[in-house]
Amino acid sequence: MVQCPSCARLIKPAITCPGCGAPVGSELDCFAALGLPPRLQIDTVRLEQAYHDLGRRIHPDRFASSPVRLRQASLRATALLTRAYRTLRDPVARGLYTLELNGVKLAENNKNVPPDLAELVFEVQEQLADLNAERSRGGEAARGLNAEVTARRAELQRTMDGLMDELNALFARFDANDTAARDDLYAELKAILSKIAYLRTLIRDVDKELDLTRAA
Ligand SMILES: [Zn+2]
Repeated sequence: MVQCPSCARLIKPAITCPGCGAPVGSELDCFAALGLPPRLQIDTVRLEQAYHDLGRRIHPDRFASSPVRLRQASLRATALLTRAYRTLRDPVARGLYTLELNGVKLAENNKNVPPDLAELVFEVQEQLADLNAERSRGGEAARGLNAEVTARRAELQRTMDGLMDELNALFARFDANDTAARDDLYAELKAILSKIAYLRTLIRDVDKELDLTRAA
């Protein structure tokens, strides 16, 4: 039990006091902080609502002239809320966080390219290097290479969309299984999250190169 910094009631660890509504800012997991069930499929409307409602109620500006313990509780609660919102809003961060909550460690060396993306990553990096070199020397071929990379960008996005669909399907299977039956799903989840993270980086690299070409 913790004590509410405003009404002094003894309460269960919470982001706000259920009695008086004051910020408490106990250490909570991200789902509990936002009052959401600990599931991978989340109600994004509810997430946004909880974030904005709570954010208003615990905002440090409202406690600027309050006793220091209440001001501190407001800062703690706001930091917790922001962290929870950012983690749960992004499906990849939410997936990684859920693995962490369940005590599943990601591989130490997560730098290895997932095998079924390896060839694609290699090809794209080569294309980007070609475009970069041609642009740097003001070569004629830059325009054609740029078109190729632009087409590649669209292809990567389609791959990403497919992976996100797969991820959502996996989230549904995960939520439907109880903890004991999840061991295989953990491995699947890890693999797909790693693929998505890799592809995100690759798409970012492509966008950077295309931006540079546009600016040239
Ligand atoms: Zn209270």
